[in-house]
Amino acid sequence: MSVLEIKDLHVSVETDQGTKQILRGVDLTINEGEIHAIMGPNGSGKSTLAYTIAGHPKYHVESGSILLDGAEVLKMTVDARARAGLFLAMQYPVEIPGVTVTNFLRTAKTAIEGEAPPIRTWIKDVRQAMTDLRMDKAFAERNVNEGFSGGEKKRNEILQLELLKPKFAVLDETDSGLDVDALKIVSEGVNRAKTNTGLGLLLITHYTRILRYIHPDFVHVFVNGRIAEQGGPELADRLEDEGYDRFLVPSNVG
Ligand code: ADP
Ligand code: MG
Ligand code: MG
Repeated sequence: MSVLEIKDLHVSVETDQGTKQILRGVDLTINEGEIHAIMGPNGSGKSTLAYTIAGHPKYHVESGSILLDGAEVLKMTVDARARAGLFLAMQYPVEIPGVTVTNFLRTAKTAIEGEAPPIRTWIKDVRQAMTDLRMDKAFAERNVNEGFSGGEKKRNEILQLELLKPKFAVLDETDSGLDVDALKIVSEGVNRAKTNTGLGLLLITHYTRILRYIHPDFVHVFVNGRIAEQGGPELADRLEDEGYDRFLVPSNVG
């Protein structure tokens, strides 16, 4: 049974105006197979949490820890995090000129597994995953994210998720900008990953819409760099009705 534990995490960034505290004591435990939704207003630090888990160098961990099955993730290189079973789909996926989707996937799979996947089953797996995600075959030979539409970028991330089979994934606003059909397809992919590999998921979203297709076990309201409230799926329904207003106390108090 795998577990990802975030403990009293404090994170800052350097800005022109000096050091800015963003995360102010985040505690969160995700067990294998669990889906945790993080919801919160813009600027509350959701992406910062995602980037910190991924090891983005801009985000400075002041204190706290992130443990994957007891091992300190914060001491791992970005590559080691992927090998350990972490996956991050960013809010703004980057283009990789000169690297095709096929080559990227195979290189990533090889790096994570420590050996190249057997060619025949691999090709079959890639084709199947692309079909499941309703992706055109021609897509495989295009450069990663180059000229991809918003929806294509998101599908490509879920393609990676399904093929790389991480233990835990962080999806940062994977739902933003998707029409309802694309949202369903992407959600089905995530749900398959959960069923097939026991994926644990941190699903960051601003809107409740995606939670109709990916059912969270827990919902956390993220405000001002920390979890302000947590509950079950009913909390998402309440947020849909009430918004985040009741959490937004003036930040200059205290
Ligand atoms: P969210 O994803 O919840 O919208 P972010 O984590 O993107 O929030 O941002 C939280 C706060 O930290 C915002 O005020 C944002 O401007 C600031 N911030 C995030 N990253 C940086 C950065 N690299 N440099 C300066 N400020 C940043
Ligand atoms: Mg934002
Ligand atoms: Mg964000």
